[in-house]
Amino acid sequence: MEKNAGGSFLLETADPDDIFTPEDMTEEHKLVAKAAEEFLLGEVAPVIDDLEAKKEGLMPQLLRKSAEVGLMGGDIPEEYGGMGLDKISSLIITEKVPLGGPFAVANVDHTGIGSLPIVYFGNDEQKKRYLPGLANGELIGSYALTEPEAGTDALNAKTTATLSEGGKYYILNGEKQFITNAGYADIFITYAKIDGEQFTGFIIDRDSEGLSLGEEEDKMGIRGTSTRSLILDNVKVPVENLLFKPGKGHVVAFNILNIGRYKLGGACVGAAKLALADTIQYAKSRVQFGHPIADFGLIKEKIGEMVIRTFVAESMVYRNAGLIEDRLKDIDMTSPEAGFESARGIEEYATECSINKVYGSEMLDYVVDEAVQIHGGYGYIKDYPVERYYRDSRINRIFEGTNEINRLLILRMLLRRALKGELPLVQAMKQAASDLLKPSGLRQAPQEGMEMLESLTENAKKIGLLVAGAVYQAHPDDLSEQQELIGMISDIIIEIFAMDSLLARVKKMMKRNNGEMPEIPGAIANVYVIDAMMRIERWAKLIFAAVAQGDVLRTQLSALKRLTRYMPVNSVALRRKVADRVLQAGRYLVS
Ligand SMILES: Cc1cc2nc3c(=O)[nH]c(=O)nc-3n(C[C@H](O)[C@H](O)[C@H](O)COP(=O)(O)OP(=O)(O)OC[C@H]3O[C@@H](n4cnc5c(N)ncnc54)[C@H](O)[C@@H]3O)c2cc1C
Repeated sequence: MEKNAGGSFLLETADPDDIFTPEDMTEEHKLVAKAAEEFLLGEVAPVIDDLEAKKEGLMPQLLRKSAEVGLMGGDIPEEYGGMGLDKISSLIITEKVPLGGPFAVANVDHTGIGSLPIVYFGNDEQKKRYLPGLANGELIGSYALTEPEAGTDALNAKTTATLSEGGKYYILNGEKQFITNAGYADIFITYAKIDGEQFTGFIIDRDSEGLSLGEEEDKMGIRGTSTRSLILDNVKVPVENLLFKPGKGHVVAFNILNIGRYKLGGACVGAAKLALADTIQYAKSRVQFGHPIADFGLIKEKIGEMVIRTFVAESMVYRNAGLIEDRLKDIDMTSPEAGFESARGIEEYATECSINKVYGSEMLDYVVDEAVQIHGGYGYIKDYPVERYYRDSRINRIFEGTNEINRLLILRMLLRRALKGELPLVQAMKQAASDLLKPSGLRQAPQEGMEMLESLTENAKKIGLLVAGAVYQAHPDDLSEQQELIGMISDIIIEIFAMDSLLARVKKMMKRNNGEMPEIPGAIANVYVIDAMMRIERWAKLIFAAVAQGDVLRTQLSALKRLTRYMPVNSVALRRKVADRVLQAGRYLVS
C-alpha cells in the first residue's frame, strides 16, 4: 500500500508530519484568509438582507466583484488567468465564504463544480476560451446534472445529444432541475446521452438558442441563491464544447463531485464558526435568573460540544485538502493528460471526500440547531441570523450527493480499492477476525492520556474491520442490499477518520508544545474519542446482532467488550473547560 493512500487511515496510524493541520498555515495562507474576510465583511455581509430578498442583479454583481480579490479563480491555473492557488488556500476561501450568507453557495458552486470540470477535463482550447473569464468574473459558472427523474440516480439522465447533419453541433434536448446560479450563470456544465446512450459532458453558453430557464424555486433556505431549471429545446452545442470524451461524462461528473464534497465540508466548518460566534455573544449577554445564560451548565455543555465537533471537522477537512494537494501539485495542468491524472489524484481520496461531506453537514446541522436553542425564542425570529443559519444548513445534507448515497459510497469505494489491490482491506479484515479468536490479539487500552486515546482509536479501526468483515462474510452475494448495515459501517468509518485526524492534529500540537498535551485541544480529544467509542460500540453491537447468532455472536460481543474497555474521563468538566475558553475569547478559539 502506498504511503498515505486513500483509505489507509483505516489500516494505519497517521503520522502527524504527513498531515496538514490549520496550525500549519503559512503567512501566504493567512493573507488569503485576510483578503477573503475583508471583502466578505466589507462588501457582502452588509447586504445579506438584500441578497435574501433577491435584489435584482446583486448576486452576480458581488460574484464578479469578488474576482478582484481572487475569490473566483483560486483553483484556476495561472496559465489560464487564475491564481493557481494550492488546495489549502482554496479551502481557506471556502471556509470564509459563509461570512457572506447565501453568497457562499453561489461562490462555491462557481469555483467548484461550475468551473473545475473545465480546469480538470477541458482541452487546451476550452481552457483558453472559458477559464480566464471564469477567473476574472466575466463569466459565472453553473453545474447542471440533476433532472426531474434523475436525482441521486444521475446516470439515468433523459437529456439527449444528437450529432447534427454535417457534424458541427450536438443538438441537446431535455430538462435539468434545481440548478444553482442558473438565473445569472453565463455557462452551464451539463450532461446528456449521445444517441440516448453515451453519458457525456458539455459546456453550454447561456445565449444558446433554445435554452430557457424555469421559474425561481421558492426555497426553505439559501434563499438568496438562484435555483432554476434549465430547459434545453433543440439547443445547438458546437462539437468543440463536448467536455472530455464521449461516453465519459460520469468520469467528469463524479470526480468533480468529490471535490465539491470536501469543499462543502470546509464551508460547513466556516458556517459553524459563524454560528458559534453569534451564540457565544448571545449567551454572554442574555440574562435570566440574574445570570448570563452562559453561566449555566446546560448551556456550557452545548457550547462545548459545538466547539468540539467544529474542531474535529476542521481537522478532517484540512487533512483531506493536504492529501489532495500532495497528489495534484505536480500535475502539469497544460498537459492533455491533466484530466486523467487529476481524476486519478482526486479519486484516490473519494472516500475521504464523502466522509468530509457527511460529517461536515451533520456537524453543522447540530451546531445551528443548538445555536437556535441557546437563543431561545429569539432564535426562531428572523431578526437574529441564527434563524437563517438553521434554514441554510439543511440543504448541505441533500446536495452534492445526499448523505445516504455518500454513506453507501464510503464503503463501496473502499471495497473497490481493495478489489483493485490498492488497499489490503480484505487481508486486514481476515487478520482482525483471526485476532478475535486469540484473546492476546486484542490489546486493552491504557488507562489515560494520549496513549489511551491512540489505543482506543486503533481499537476502533479493529472494530471497523471486524464489522465490515462480518457483514461481507454473511452477505457475499447481496451486500449492496444491506443498506442499513452499510450505513452503520460507514458511520464507524467516518468516526475513525474523525478520531484519527483529531489525534494526528493534537499530536502535532504536542510536538510543538514540548510533548505536553495542549489544554483545550487535549480536552477536546479526550471527550471526542470516548464519545466516539460509545457510538461505535453501539453500531457494532447492532451490526453483529444482524449477521450472527449463538456462539459466534457471543464471541464477537466479548471481543467488542474488550476493545471498548476504557476508564471514562470527566467529560462534564472537560466540556465546561472548552466552553469557558471560547466564552472568554468571545469566538471559536481552541489554542
Ligand atoms: C437548493 C438546491 C440546489 C441544488 N443545486 C444543484 C446544482 O447546482 N446542480 C445540480 O445538478 N443539482 C443541484 N441540486 C440537486 C440535488 O443535487 C438533488 O436534489 C440531490 O442530488 C437529490 O436528488 P433528488 O432531489 O432527486 O432526490 P432523490 O434522488 O429522489 O432522493 C430522495 C431520497 O431518497 C434517497 N435515495 C435515493 N436513492 C437511494 C438509494 N439508492 N438508496 C438509499 N436511498 C436513496 C435519497 O438519499 C433521498 O433521501 C440542488 C438541489 C437543491 C434543493
